[in-house]
Amino acid sequence: MGTSHRKQPVRDLVAGVQSRLIELYRPPDGYEVVLGNGGATLFWDAAVFCLIAERSAHGVFGEFGAKFAHAAARAPFLEPPAIAEAPPGRVALPDADADADVHAWTHNETSTGALAPVRRLADGPLVLIDATSAAGGLPVDLSQTDAYYFAPQKHLASDGGLWLAFCSPAALSRAERLAAGRWIPDTLNLAVAARNSRAHQTLNTPALATLLLMDDQLRWLLANGGLEFAEGRCRESSGLLYDWAQAHPHASCSVADPTDRSPAVVTIDFDDAIDAAELCRIMRAAGVVDIEPYRGLASNQIRVGVYASVDPDDVRALIACLDHVVEALLNA
Ligand SMILES: *Cc1c(COP(=O)(O)O)cnc(C)c1O
Repeated sequence: MGTSHRKQPVRDLVAGVQSRLIELYRPPDGYEVVLGNGGATLFWDAAVFCLIAERSAHGVFGEFGAKFAHAAARAPFLEPPAIAEAPPGRVALPDADADADVHAWTHNETSTGALAPVRRLADGPLVLIDATSAAGGLPVDLSQTDAYYFAPQKHLASDGGLWLAFCSPAALSRAERLAAGRWIPDTLNLAVAARNSRAHQTLNTPALATLLLMDDQLRWLLANGGLEFAEGRCRESSGLLYDWAQAHPHASCSVADPTDRSPAVVTIDFDDAIDAAELCRIMRAAGVVDIEPYRGLASNQIRVGVYASVDPDDVRALIACLDHVVEALLNA
């Protein structure tokens, strides 16, 4: 791990990650796997500089989609974005009639557990999809996207700090064109990132452990059947939780429409008989952690990530714990 990121072992590792992502997703000809440092959040800023020419249109239905829209809204060189918004638990796609050169939304909104369709809404605008909690777990038709971007700390079972994107030829040429006419810091320049990625490098030194862990997960996913396998596991795990919520007299699925329910991030609402914050505190004290709702969301809710690596039997064990604690809370 101590070698320079321009040396062969690291370039082989980056090339391996790129080729395994292509094997997993089979993107259309001409699409490239571009990567750089900074996670999905950095990609929003890079997209503001390099992919939005004048105006973007956003579908916002949770905190992550809102963050990208906010980044675009603050750029002094862009027109204010068109924002179509839906409340937590529902899905909003960008307004196809808005005068925009980018359409942006989130495939799987991690903050709410809502899953959006991924398809072009109009001819012309680039389609930028935040796939951070979808990539490596949920299938997609990449021909419907121009940048399908993500960080690897969710299904890809790695650490944070890196961003990766399947970029279409249209996105790559937009990035070249805008970089030629606008000041762009090198760290945010997708044309620079694409040139480095073609050489299996990043602009500056990446965290090698992040790449090694991600490569291991990609090998595991491919050896077991790829995205179909991953989605099957996620659907089994999430189905157990959704069935539990629907059968429970004091619980319900936060995402009302079954077609909008994420197979990877499950949100469950409780009625007034159960204090979800108290439930989470008791579970946490017993070592069952990270079922709290997203911090921006003030709901009486639990939220469970059932990414590809999660064993459905562990979800069964979680449900047994939930039953036990909920019963005790009701009888307290
Ligand atoms: C986790 C997550 C992010 C944030 O990723 P960072 O690597 O921390 O920037 C962005 N979008 C979605 C959909 C996420 O789930």
